Amino acid sequence: MATAYLGLGANLGDREATLGGAVAELGGIGDVVAASALYETEPVGYVDQPAFLNACVALRTELSPEELLKFVKGMESRAGRAESFRNAPRPLDIDILLYVNDGGEPVVMESERLTIPHLRMHERGFVLVPLGEIAEDVRHPVLGQTVRELRDAVGVEGVRPLTG
Ligand code: ADP
Ligand code: MG
Repeated sequence: MATAYLGLGANLGDREATLGGAVAELGGIGDVVAASALYETEPVGYVDQPAFLNACVALRTELSPEELLKFVKGMESRAGRAESFRNAPRPLDIDILLYVNDGGEPVVMESERLTIPHLRMHERGFVLVPLGEIAEDVRHPVLGQTVRELRDAVGVEGVRPLTG
């Protein structure tokens, strides 16, 4: 058993419904033990696209990191995501941010398909703000800093709690 911290994003279609459906679907492969609020965030990288809704969840699961990646890629496809470029608009994006085995060290791995911790999580306010809500004291196993420390370094610019 392990706890995986996932980052969810959506910027096409009914973003709120998509994220709600995604959290429900994740319940099929484990227990969603924590979920952040939803945040509206400015696109990063390729900026000429609609705002994202982002959230993070903690998932207790028996799936290995590779099995989990396969499942979330399937979820992205079912949500209507076409293969595209990095930072492109998409109905659903799910990233594996951190993966911590019970009673063990957090997973550090790098393969062609999967890098954990996620390579860019530490520089993204749209990840660190929601993740900070549910995993403030979890430590990034490569950088050695907690999520709180990483979030405070990056700041909250462009990341607003969804209202209304
Ligand atoms: P981004 O989320 O940075 O815009 P994509 O969602 O298009 O990029 O992902 C591109 C590829 O990144 C995926 O096909 C996947 O194989 C790979 N990848 C590597 N590490 C991870 C991770 N920790 N979580 C999710 N995908 C990852
Ligand atoms: Mg992704």
